Amino acid sequence: MDLGISGKRALVCASSKGLGRGCAEALAEAGVDLVLNARGAEALEATAQAIRDQYGVSVTAIAADITEEAGRARVLEAAGAVDILVTNAGGPPPGLWSDWTRDDFIKALDANMLTPIALMTALVPGMIDRGWGRVVNITSQSVKAPIPALGLSNAARTGLTGYVAGTARQVAAKGVCINNLLPGSHDTDRAVALEKGVAKAQDVSLEEARAIRCKAIPSGRYGTIEEFGATCAFLCSQHAGFIVGQNILLDGGQTSATI
Ligand code: NAP
Repeated sequence: MDLGISGKRALVCASSKGLGRGCAEALAEAGVDLVLNARGAEALEATAQAIRDQYGVSVTAIAADITEEAGRARVLEAAGAVDILVTNAGGPPPGLWSDWTRDDFIKALDANMLTPIALMTALVPGMIDRGWGRVVNITSQSVKAPIPALGLSNAARTGLTGYVAGTARQVAAKGVCINNLLPGSHDTDRAVALEKGVAKAQDVSLEEARAIRCKAIPSGRYGTIEEFGATCAFLCSQHAGFIVGQNILLDGGQTSATI
């Protein structure tokens, strides 16, 4: 399917690896020029070069922490006017509700709620002026069904979801579609980190921890970054202009709900 976005320009945050990279690759395959970001310069530049080589699109790579104001300012300056924004950042660590301090919450809110809001505040006005835009926020299945050990994530991402629900409906008539993609378990470094938590808590090997996690997924496996990226690219496509303020689960059926 031709997504109809060849020649558009996208900022994909936190995209040297994992789900962000999956989104960047799928957009590049659709002919979209990219601004990529991550903190580690080496992996970021390697990803940028691999995408240039494979898809022939223009890729600008900015090594910066997207959750910090100074880093975000550098990314936004390099990005300029973009048609597509994919927000993403690392997720908060797991833990126990009674251990989290105000500082832990502020950090999680900054990274997973206020950073995407700041990026939308900076970039959506230009999309409105040009009469076309797409925003995809990478959140989590924990927005639909809480993951108890990820209380910091549950809280911050649900806050973002509430903001998007209202804002998406305010800008839709201007040709700008804002939606959230909710990953369940995907095969990335983040999954390995969570497996280590299961292995420690249940005193099992990493392989056993992976098997335990996969058994809880009706598909019986983790999702891939390619599947995730393809869904993101569709949401950024010309065909998705009537999809507004939605929360789309990609979780292999793990969130057990009728609707
Ligand atoms: P990942 O494989 O660990 O990749 C994270 C990417 O983000 C890397 O490129 C990393 O590069 C970059 N990054 C992290 N923090 C950043 C920051 N502050 N500023 C700029 N770049 C940053 O993670 P993932 O699995 O793709 O997860 C992406 C998001 O989805 C996370 O918020 C995660 O909690 C959420 N999620 C993931 C899953 C899953 O199963 N994978 C499930 C639910 C939710 P640097 O480290 O070099 O900065």
